[in-house]
Amino acid sequence: MQQPAQINDLREMSARVGRNMLLVQGAGGNSSAKDGDTLWVKASGTWLSDATDKDIFVPVALSAALAALEQGDERVPLAPGATTTLRASIETSLHALMPHPVVLHVHSVNTIAWAVRTDAPAELTRRLAGLNWRYLDYCHPGLPLAQAVSAAIAREPVDVLILGNHGLVVGATTCEAAEAMVADVEQRLAVIPREALAADSDALRSICAGTDYRVPSDPRCHGIATDRHNLAVATGGSLYPDHVVFLGRAMPTLGHGDSLRAADLKKTDAPPPVAILIPGIGSVIRKDASAGAEAMLSCLALVTCRLPPNAPIHYLTEQNENALLNWDAERYRQQLTASR
Ligand SMILES: [Zn+2]
Repeated sequence: MQQPAQINDLREMSARVGRNMLLVQGAGGNSSAKDGDTLWVKASGTWLSDATDKDIFVPVALSAALAALEQGDERVPLAPGATTTLRASIETSLHALMPHPVVLHVHSVNTIAWAVRTDAPAELTRRLAGLNWRYLDYCHPGLPLAQAVSAAIAREPVDVLILGNHGLVVGATTCEAAEAMVADVEQRLAVIPREALAADSDALRSICAGTDYRVPSDPRCHGIATDRHNLAVATGGSLYPDHVVFLGRAMPTLGHGDSLRAADLKKTDAPPPVAILIPGIGSVIRKDASAGAEAMLSCLALVTCRLPPNAPIHYLTEQNENALLNWDAERYRQQLTASR
C-alpha cells in the first residue's frame, strides 16, 4: 500500500520524540497521521525511536475503526490492501477519535509528574491557561480510555489531553505543530528534579555477584533507591500503566543483609521481581530484563525525583493493576518489545 508524503514527516517527528527519554521510554507513546480514510498509526510493541529505521506505522481504515469503537469493539480493522503482519497500537481508537490530522501521545515525565497527583487539576488550570485542554481521570488504556476521550471531545474542541496516571495527548494540523505543542506543555509543566545521591557501586557489584541481577546501565535509576522521598513514592504503589506492564506493581526492596540469590528470593510463588531497590545503595535489574523494562526503571527515576516530598500521590488501584497484568494486548506488546 502506497504511503502518503506526510509519512516522512511523521517518521522524523516520531523518531526525534522517541529518542527523548523525557518524552518517551521504550515502547511507550504513539503517533499517527490521517490521510483521507486511512489512519497511519504506530504498530503495537514498536518503538517510536525506530521510526526512521523501520516500518513502524500500519494503515487503519479510519471510518471502520470509528464504527468499531461505536460498537464497543476493541479490534481495529486494517485498511483494505494492507499487507503488514503487525497490529495497530493499543491506543488506535484514541488517534482515530481526535479530529486532528496529526495526533501524538507521549509519556512525558513532567506531565506524568503532575498526572499522578491528586492536586493536579488546580495547578494544571493555572499552568495550561490559554490552551484547549482537558484533564481525564485514569482509565484503562484501549477501549475504556477511548470512550472517555470520546465523551470529553464531544463537549468542546480539545487539542491537549492530560491523562491521569498516564501521560499526554496532543492533536495538531502538522507534525511540526504537534511536536511544538508537546514541548510547550512540557515547559509549562516543568518541575525541577531533585538531585539524588550516587549509587554505592562497590556494594551493588558485590550484591549482584553470582545472582541473576545486574546494575542497570542508566545511572539515574539509582536515584529511586538513594533518595528517601523517591524510594517512598516508588515502594508505595504503581503510578502508570507501562510501569505495571514492564516492572510489576510497587517496587520491591531488598532488606538490609538480605541476598539476591535465586534461592533466597524464592520465598513466594511470585516470579522474581524484574527490578529491586536497595535502599541507600542503588537499583538492580534482572539480567534477562528487556530493554523496555530497563527504560521503565529510568522513567520511574525521572518521575519520582519530580514529586516534592509533600505531594499527594494517586496510585493505580489493585484492580487497575490486575486489568493491566491480565491483558492479552499488553502481553503481545511485551513480547514484541522483548524481541526487538
Ligand atoms: Zn500511553
